Amino acid sequence: MNSAWRTLWRYFKRFWRWVTCRRARLTAIRVEELPNKLDTNKLYLVGEGDYLWFAAMMCPCDCGHILYMGLMPDQKPKWSVTVHHDNSVSLFPSVWRKVGCKTHFWLRNGCIIRHKG
Ligand SMILES: [Zn+2]
Repeated sequence: MNSAWRTLWRYFKRFWRWVTCRRARLTAIRVEELPNKLDTNKLYLVGEGDYLWFAAMMCPCDCGHILYMGLMPDQKPKWSVTVHHDNSVSLFPSVWRKVGCKTHFWLRNGCIIRHKG
């Protein structure tokens, strides 16, 4: 790809993020214990010291459930979290609730990208 295309692609991605990211960006917060009430715009990274045990966030569909994503290396399923320089977060792979609201989404740079399926 030449640089003009790269620039165009970057603008397109930014535009796409703007289109898909209607709520406030999710940012990471490190905690040792999950609080009783979770902020909808935060991904809680629960752990101690260098260890992260799991990530937790409110379900983006507003059903009121808390979603838990295991981060321990020997856990299954297991997610990997990236905290970006602006403190926004990405999760890999996507989060798919198999029960209840069955929400399925990607978390990319703090944006909830709904999976249409
Ligand atoms: Zn839900």
